[in-house]
Amino acid sequence: MKESFETRCIHGDPDASLRDANNAISFPIYQTASFSHIKTGHNDSGFDYTRESNPTRSKLEEVVSSLESAVGTVAFSSGMAAISACFELFRPGDRILCSEDLYGGAIRLHNLISAKNGVTADYVDTSDLKTVEKSITPDTKAIYVETPSNPMMNITDLRGCAKLAHDNGLLLIVDNTFLSPYLQNPLLLGADIVIHSGSKFLSGHNDTISGFVSAGDANLIDKIRLISKTTGGVLAPFDSWLVMRGIKTLAVRMKQQQESAMKIADWLFDCPQVTNVYYPGLKDHPGYEINASQAKGSGSMISFRVDNEKTALRVLQKVRLVTFAESLGGVESLITYPALQTHPDVPQKMREHLGITETLLRLSVGLENADDIISDLKQALEE
Ligand SMILES: *Cc1c(COP(=O)(O)O)cnc(C)c1O
Repeated sequence: MKESFETRCIHGDPDASLRDANNAISFPIYQTASFSHIKTGHNDSGFDYTRESNPTRSKLEEVVSSLESAVGTVAFSSGMAAISACFELFRPGDRILCSEDLYGGAIRLHNLISAKNGVTADYVDTSDLKTVEKSITPDTKAIYVETPSNPMMNITDLRGCAKLAHDNGLLLIVDNTFLSPYLQNPLLLGADIVIHSGSKFLSGHNDTISGFVSAGDANLIDKIRLISKTTGGVLAPFDSWLVMRGIKTLAVRMKQQQESAMKIADWLFDCPQVTNVYYPGLKDHPGYEINASQAKGSGSMISFRVDNEKTALRVLQKVRLVTFAESLGGVESLITYPALQTHPDVPQKMREHLGITETLLRLSVGLENADDIISDLKQALEE
């Protein structure tokens, strides 16, 4: 029987192949560029050169595979390197159908790099399956989804998208950064590829940048590994170790951060200066039912809208415990201004259409006491 998630965070898959030769409890950092060969055509360890593979990184990849129920995982130097590697699967003329509300960096990648390489992104509201179905063209090769999306927290039906993708011979690629494998496992819902920015919940301490691609199919992961070894955006041994250490506490962190987020979302909902709260754990969220049917929870990301731009700017200036900074998913609570920080490269018209305006704030709830976070937000919201 497969061990529970909490256990796998700490031990990975106990039957997995990689063990430290000296039985170290904390898997060592193999800080080496190269590995020796005893004679031609013979390589004891299976490792040659760290761009291609490294024991510390391989161990981490085993752990992430175990958490996402994947056949294999490739670790990258950032979430963006992971996403770019996935886009290398496509050729000029191909189209990718994307959630319109995506991480800003992914949109920049499409517009600046993929478009130049002849791969077109079509942005649609993937929370509406009929729209997804109507938007598939003969050149469409993949559906690319974030759920909950960044920053509007829209929910897409992953089982529904997987069916549409497979009926039409497409890949379903899911960026699972916002919920982490503790709360959602897209491969088990029918996705072909799962992406993580490991800089967020997986590492969890706002101290390192990393990215992951996991797949349920050996052929697909072989292709991604070949791309990674060829283009070279791999994760260094020390960073691999840091992420591995972060993952050991993933389950307890997610559990507590989510509990605090629910309390804070409820509080924000009744706040006089707050006009909208976007959190899929609230019963009035349009994606509440779908999220509950495919994920074990709603995570710890909350977006909310305040009554005017002045209030938004005041909050950013007055918070003293919650930090005004980019990024998310760590033990420190961070508040972000999406219009200026994460999504400035999204064309203004598109931002307005999505609701990413001057009154929108995004909160990543960390591990501080929820009541302290509430008091801080309260004093920052008040004039
Ligand atoms: C941060 C983030 C990324 C990019 O990851 P980096 O590690 O910063 O390169 C991609 N997708 C989502 C949803 C993110 O939050």
